Amino acid sequence: MSANPDSSRVLSFEDARRVVEDEASLVHASQTESVELLASAGRVLAGAILADRDIPPFPRSTRDGYAVQSADLSKLPSMLQVIGEIKAGEKLENIPATIGRGQTASIMTGAPVPGGADAVVMVEYSSQHGQQVEITKQVVSGENIVPRGAEAQKGSPLIARGSRLTDAAIALAASAGNSKLQVYKRPRTAVLTTGDEIVAVDATPGPTQIRNSNSYSLAVQIRQAGGDPILLPIAPDDPGRLRELIEEGLNCDLLLMTGGVSMGRYDLVEQVLSEMQAEFFFSGAKIQPGRPVVFGKCQCGAGAPAGTYFFGLPGNPVSTMVTFELFARPMLEALAGMSPRKLAFVHAKLKSEIKVKPGLKRFLPAILSGEVENSQVELVAWQGSGDIAATARANCYVVIPPDRERIPAGEWVPVMIR
Ligand code: AMP
Ligand code: MG
Repeated sequence: MSANPDSSRVLSFEDARRVVEDEASLVHASQTESVELLASAGRVLAGAILADRDIPPFPRSTRDGYAVQSADLSKLPSMLQVIGEIKAGEKLENIPATIGRGQTASIMTGAPVPGGADAVVMVEYSSQHGQQVEITKQVVSGENIVPRGAEAQKGSPLIARGSRLTDAAIALAASAGNSKLQVYKRPRTAVLTTGDEIVAVDATPGPTQIRNSNSYSLAVQIRQAGGDPILLPIAPDDPGRLRELIEEGLNCDLLLMTGGVSMGRYDLVEQVLSEMQAEFFFSGAKIQPGRPVVFGKCQCGAGAPAGTYFFGLPGNPVSTMVTFELFARPMLEALAGMSPRKLAFVHAKLKSEIKVKPGLKRFLPAILSGEVENSQVELVAWQGSGDIAATARANCYVVIPPDRERIPAGEWVPVMIR
């Protein structure tokens, strides 16, 4: 990437996203900490977790029923001699050493299948009278048994380094005996909001002032992406003070700014960063909302000699939220130690026609509803990218490619869940 700041670089959505993904592939999380298993939900695993024994550790019955030799059931009904009962957790000495021809043991779900038996018949196809049981259904060899080690073999990797710890991953870690996990530290992510008109949430705004809301949507998105938000003071549209606060933010692992990146006379973020010799990877993407989004790296943070990545996100609240999802999230996830992920879309049927001007890829707030086979989506009525109220009613964004002017009702469209 060129070291020359080029503040006229406006990329297509795909090119801009690729630039972020390429840069994200260069970063490595290194600092780790040990956390209690439950506290690790949503954190990123810093070292692979291995199976401490075979899973399952014994051939496991998946049904309540009878452990049999399948060959004994070639003619039905078949009468077998019951030589034992095996419940889950049964002591080894109480389990029959082997099931011979004409024999069976009654067995419960989760219990170890004894030697000699090669299948389990469900209890529904049996009637037991004393030590004899009549079986009325055939089984194939292996039926209703998970062989020892079939899910994982001792020593094999269960959860890879860089995995986000989901409910299933935490259950798996628990099953392998881990009451604490080594995870990456959350990247410290500075949030710097800019604008003379912006006041703090607990201030009484003057008639032309507005309260800072972007720092809060960003803080939530940062937490969801695995980062630790650090809210800096609001920066006025004054180059000197803006520079001080940018320098402070660059001491974090990532700096997110909102506002001040459009073409207005008081949009000073790029100007100040250029004066600081920042490298700009792009300074706009052909998207709506969020066109003026800026991505770069700046070397002046004392704590980060290799440079700190920054995003200048447009100040309109919906633009801020969308551009975080599209561009800042992959970088933050990489800094958090996560393996890179692609953007995921679902598809839904458009409820009513959409008409737009071509040229930009659009991510428009919408409501996804309907049943599994009939998911439907409809844009929310909105006043443009400043309309937080409309976006709060939405649960997704409809994605419209830049070459479409009209999308008829009934067409399947890509949808990004939020
Ligand atoms: P800008 O990108 O600075 O031109 O700001 C675009 C619009 O977003 C303006 O209407 C700003 O008042 C608004 N805005 C900027 N920053 C914030 C913020 N932190 N919270 C809410 N709205 C904002
Ligand atoms: Mg502004």
